[in-house]
Amino acid sequence: MSARKPRSKLVGAVRRAVWSASISGAAERGVEVMTLPPREVFLEVTAHCNIKCPMCPVTTGLERARGTMRWELFEKILDDVAGKVPQMSLFLAGEPLLHKRIFDMVAAASARGVYTRIHTNVLLLTEEKIGKVFDSGLDELSFSFDGPTKERYDRVRVGGDYDKCVRLIKRVMEVKRERRAGKPLTKIQIVYFAGEDPAEQERQMREIFADNLPDELKMVPAHSWAGEYQDFVRYRENVGKEEKLSICHMPWDRMSITWDGNVVGCCNDFLARYINGNVKTAPVLEVWNSPAYQRLRRSVHRKEYGSLSLCAKCDVPWAGDSSASLRRSANAAAYTGFVAWRTLRGTTLPEPRRDG
Ligand code: SF4
Repeated sequence: MSARKPRSKLVGAVRRAVWSASISGAAERGVEVMTLPPREVFLEVTAHCNIKCPMCPVTTGLERARGTMRWELFEKILDDVAGKVPQMSLFLAGEPLLHKRIFDMVAAASARGVYTRIHTNVLLLTEEKIGKVFDSGLDELSFSFDGPTKERYDRVRVGGDYDKCVRLIKRVMEVKRERRAGKPLTKIQIVYFAGEDPAEQERQMREIFADNLPDELKMVPAHSWAGEYQDFVRYRENVGKEEKLSICHMPWDRMSITWDGNVVGCCNDFLARYINGNVKTAPVLEVWNSPAYQRLRRSVHRKEYGSLSLCAKCDVPWAGDSSASLRRSANAAAYTGFVAWRTLRGTTLPEPRRDG
């Protein structure tokens, strides 16, 4: 395994922006076979969890086998994507800190120049693991907190421990300060539901973590988990208005792999309703352009969501089409330019089998 030089922050930011615009361009054009790799790969390092949040499919019924990713499969995936995929998120369903080798995974990916992210309910952090957060080279740590009050936390995080969670988040921030560590980027995330006031929640969070504020506080509206949870907050006012139906960019943007190697439809597909292939034997970037992936892109681009059991009740397509024509042109140009640049450098993906 060869270590790669870290990019400067500016180069990384520009590259991410061009990549994102290119993905939008590919989605808007309806590209079915991607010559660009995914921008991000989600790995379900485990499908088990240590708490029982009532809104999460891991609690309400995953309808598939639960397990933990084997190290050999992780290494195979990393070998397939290192140097091609810029970002790896080591979570999907389940709590990533339950994996005994989670920080070995982070270190291995990091050593090969992959930007790594963990999203955790915090409770399994220990002093030793907090050390590993910094020593492993982790780029981003996001705390799935769901406070701000103890009463709300206990309702949403069944089986959790509010005081412990707050204490551990503060401890991570203290250690970051003590070490003068630039990484990981830290975020606290709260999912808010209908009738709640995210501004007030943010104010309360700022009070609780006043001396130990993370880099970001994120108030996130509840989404539908690919249609499983119909009390979602986002885009409700758009549902049913055809002019608001947009193209979901997920199938062009990111790849989500379950603990047993299945590549599911998107990172909301916890129930594994749509399988694009399995990476235990097939190369990851071959599955990225599998016939099933091509079909998914075709249907989503045509906005035929009703034909996909995965997407039929999802809130994401109702985001509304806010792209101005200038922006669309910029996205299309970014896509063309990015593909041309990668073609010159010989870093586009090989031509796959076309879906008939
Ligand atoms: S529309 Fe389909 S692919 Fe997009 S987020 Fe929803 S379920 Fe996933």
